[in-house]
Amino acid sequence: MAVEVKMPQLGLTMEEGTVSKWLKHEGDAVKVGDVLLEITTDKLTSEVVSEEEGVLLKIVAQEGEDVPVKGLLAYIGAAGEQVGAPAAAPAAAPAAAPAPAAAAPKKEGKTKLAVIGGGPGGYVAAIRAAQLGAEVTLIEKNKLGGTCLNVGCIPTKAILHSAEALTEAKEMADYGINVEVKNVDWAKVQAKKTAITNQLVSGVTGLMKANKIKVVEGEATFASKDTLAVTKKDGSKENMTFDKIIIAAGSVPAIPPISGVKENANCVDSTGALAFESIPKSMLVIGGGVIGIELATAYSKFGTEVTVVEAAPKLLPMMDGELTAMMRKMMEQKGVKIMTDAKVQSVENSPVGAKVNVEVGGKMQSFEAEKVLVAVGRRTDTAALNLDAVGIANDRGRITVNDKMETSVPNVYAIGDCLGKVMLAHVASAQGEVAAENAMGEEALYDGATNPSCVYTDPEFAGVGLTEEKAKEMGIEYTVGKFPLMANGKSLIMNGGAGTIKFIIGKEYKEVLGVHILGPRATDLIGECALAIGLEATVEDIIATIHAHPTVTEAVREAALAAEKRAIHIPNK
Ligand code: FAD
Ligand code: NAD
Repeated sequence: MAVEVKMPQLGLTMEEGTVSKWLKHEGDAVKVGDVLLEITTDKLTSEVVSEEEGVLLKIVAQEGEDVPVKGLLAYIGAAGEQVGAPAAAPAAAPAAAPAPAAAAPKKEGKTKLAVIGGGPGGYVAAIRAAQLGAEVTLIEKNKLGGTCLNVGCIPTKAILHSAEALTEAKEMADYGINVEVKNVDWAKVQAKKTAITNQLVSGVTGLMKANKIKVVEGEATFASKDTLAVTKKDGSKENMTFDKIIIAAGSVPAIPPISGVKENANCVDSTGALAFESIPKSMLVIGGGVIGIELATAYSKFGTEVTVVEAAPKLLPMMDGELTAMMRKMMEQKGVKIMTDAKVQSVENSPVGAKVNVEVGGKMQSFEAEKVLVAVGRRTDTAALNLDAVGIANDRGRITVNDKMETSVPNVYAIGDCLGKVMLAHVASAQGEVAAENAMGEEALYDGATNPSCVYTDPEFAGVGLTEEKAKEMGIEYTVGKFPLMANGKSLIMNGGAGTIKFIIGKEYKEVLGVHILGPRATDLIGECALAIGLEATVEDIIATIHAHPTVTEAVREAALAAEKRAIHIPNK
């Protein structure tokens, strides 16, 4: 019975390949391992080898032909065997729903484009559209920079940086520097955070001016498919009509319906926890996700007694489980109490601040804390937009788009947190560029394969591509390469060598499927790994690249070597 030779998938992002050269011809005898043909993708050239012994009966895809992944290339079978008409090759991966909006006809003059929201999604989209010649109006109801610059990424990292400085100062004697830490000037910590935020926000204001983007301070709502009713900060109202609209309305904290939370002033969201008037003596964190873990890390360094209560069986569900367990242990060693599989049932008032009743393993336990941080996720901020009235498809406020960032309404795009999927600043910005380019008549697709997840713990934690759990779930055959940072000189200098780097490598083609790093500078190191995934690099490509010494990047290469059982600085199992 003849077997089919199919177009291989050489990386997660590969959708099709081109047959560049047949090295065997119809009628040739082939053995297992013989090179049948060469294929090229937009990123690499590769050989397709035979997995069967027999005769190359029929070549279905000729040289120069583009064939989708798993599409039919040829048949191998016994000499003289008849093969049927080629089965229809599967189409290349379809774009996500909804159906793309009809392309707008080119019009005379400048395209009038509106962006709703000035966060990292909106302001980047506005700049990209202006670069492409649009007349751009950005409408922002609050502050330019959105969540990220004002109450998200930047203020969190500024506070974390002060906390790290405190830890370093306390540990200076280990490095031969004797300093006395007198106290923490919390007002100064807050002032530093605010100064950094203000500087970045004024930078965005400058970028708007430099790109001739008109910024309107006000709240936008759809009056029709192409007209926004804007209620300005001074109370006036104006209807504005545009050729294209990009929605970048972002998200706000989700407050769960736990009895007593809303009524207790000591229960705060992330915005409240970034602006405490003083360092709390104790804090209970509801939710062991990214916000909960980062703020638990920061406040525990300032001396707050922190307890994290997470409903799921593990912290940070999207990160690699093995490294997450290591990170949890490190946090616990530093004094953070962590409970998983634990559900907060109610909050009561208490003289301390709040009494939190938690169900753990079927039993109720109560914890008192001065402050309670509620960090159980975020919800889209789209209620004011009037989406349903103008027919913009959404799932309870989460706007539906395809991979061109088009909504179900022609000429209306949506990006970033308001999609309710991956809520990260760099994702919002990447989607913003894609939306702006499509709105301006270019062809761009959003592909999240290279999107890194970073958690600013101590040490830092970052991952890109598939986790081991995900590779297993997808039925992909993989090998793992791990390198403990204890064996890396620079890590030893920086943090005593705490952490590990872990590669997930495809078994057949040795492509980099995922990389996970717990260690100093993990959030910077992950850039190389994202590039590797984007370029469909193999483990050999990482190994062939010389990494500088002494750096933590050497450990990235060593982890790749470990996947091939040829690590130099650790024994290979
Ligand atoms: P946003 O930044 O939320 O911006 C949306 C803007 O739209 C807002 O300014 C809002 O006022 C405005 N708006 C909404 N509706 C209207 C309307 N109708 N009219 C006019 N304006 C409107 N991400 C990371 O990648 N790294 C991190 O380290 C990180 N840390 C975080 C820490 C915290 C505490 C939080 C809360 C978030 C963090 N995030 C981080 C997530 C990141 O902030 C968001 O993913 C990012 O800001 C989303 O960008 P966006 O442009 O989609 O939305
Ligand atoms: P999250 O989704 O990361 O985590 C929420 C956690 O709360 C989950 O682990 C969930 O299981 C848990 N939870 C939900 N209900 C609970 C309950 N009743 N009791 C106990 N636990 C409960 O959300 P987040 O931490 O609020 O962060 C929101 C978004 O902000 C995230 O999507 C994240 O991408 C983004 N963010 C990113 C960074 C970063 O990139 N470094 C930092 C902060 C925030």
